[in-house]
Amino acid sequence: MNFVVGFIAPLVVYLVVLALHVALPARTVDGYVVDAKTGRLLRYRLNGLAVLLVVIFLWAVIAWFDVLPAEWLYLHAWGALAGACVLGLVYTVVLVHRAPSTGKPYLVDLFLGRVENLQYGGRIDVKMILYLAGAVMLVLNAVSTAIYHAIRFSADLNPGVLLHAGLLIFFVLDYLWFERVHLYTYDLFAERIGFKLAWGCLVFYPFFYPVGLWSTAYLPTPALIVDYGTVWLVGSACVFLFGWALARGANMQKYQFKRFPDKPFLGRLAPQVVSDGRHNLLCNGFWGAARHINYLGEIVMATGLALSLGHPELPWPWLYPLYYVLLLTTRERDDDRRCSAKYGALWDVYKAKVPKRIVPGIY
Ligand code: NDP
Repeated sequence: MNFVVGFIAPLVVYLVVLALHVALPARTVDGYVVDAKTGRLLRYRLNGLAVLLVVIFLWAVIAWFDVLPAEWLYLHAWGALAGACVLGLVYTVVLVHRAPSTGKPYLVDLFLGRVENLQYGGRIDVKMILYLAGAVMLVLNAVSTAIYHAIRFSADLNPGVLLHAGLLIFFVLDYLWFERVHLYTYDLFAERIGFKLAWGCLVFYPFFYPVGLWSTAYLPTPALIVDYGTVWLVGSACVFLFGWALARGANMQKYQFKRFPDKPFLGRLAPQVVSDGRHNLLCNGFWGAARHINYLGEIVMATGLALSLGHPELPWPWLYPLYYVLLLTTRERDDDRRCSAKYGALWDVYKAKVPKRIVPGIY
């Protein structure tokens, strides 16, 4: 019975997120993607932060009135994971089936998707709602797991678990605070909607990202934290924040350049570009250090998260940074091909000027 109730939990959460996204007031903005049918920029409704806060409030009310315990999602994690998997698969098949073939084999279409963008009634953008659903579910999973740990170990809890949950929540809040910047990223302008994106958002994002939390929440405080608690936790948080500064800084510099090409970044750093007269590419600041230093930032953040738990001897928390290394080194190669096709010789000029792919001076 518990498994069945857990199984339907993701569907309920995702429907609530959808309903709130449609019902709550939103900022409507132009995106970066051009609608192939109209030739105009796609418009997006942004209210992710408000949706998240209302869901957390609802969860708190449910727990406060003892309808469900606050750690309920952790206790039903396997059922919820199975439910999300089935939901992600069914939704992927429906989405892909209804769209015209790209001419590639069906399984390739299923994995990578057929349509690039899908919007309904001017209120719902499928990509954005998928990311929002995954983000909200991730926060609920993180909160629920941290509360389980705090109740189970009470005065002897591992502060690393709470720090890890807090950093994950910060990661989501940061994403939702800068939701508009996401409109200018590869996920939005280059990915199609298939298994990779739909299953990725509904299952992988909310259920794999807390892998470190889940694999340590039932363990007592490790000796490392007992002996070196403050130094270890502050050090881990600093690693995370350093990564965040790299990723957020690079993303904001590029975002600002795309919207206001002449405006100095942070009021100080005037954009320097390589140009062929038609296109301009940034080549100073973050974009002069390496061609995707934001990916390095993301990997460093993930490393800080893995360290924060205080269990460097366990393999599970390291799966998260390892996933980033695999995802982003592959993504960098894809993006390099895309930019080479789009910018031609100018991309070669940029590569000559900024020779490193991800890690300044090394790779
Ligand atoms: P980028 O933000 O690096 O975007 C790449 C695009 O930026 C290129 O296709 C090109 O697009 C443009 N560009 C590249 N170089 C330059 C330049 N020098 N000057 C101007 N424009 C340039 O990559 P992503 O969109 O993949 O990543 C965005 C963020 O999201 C990163 O921080 C990444 O780590 C993060 N991310 C997070 C994931 C997660 O699960 N947490 C998953 C994937 C990414 P154009 O055609 O517009 O010029």
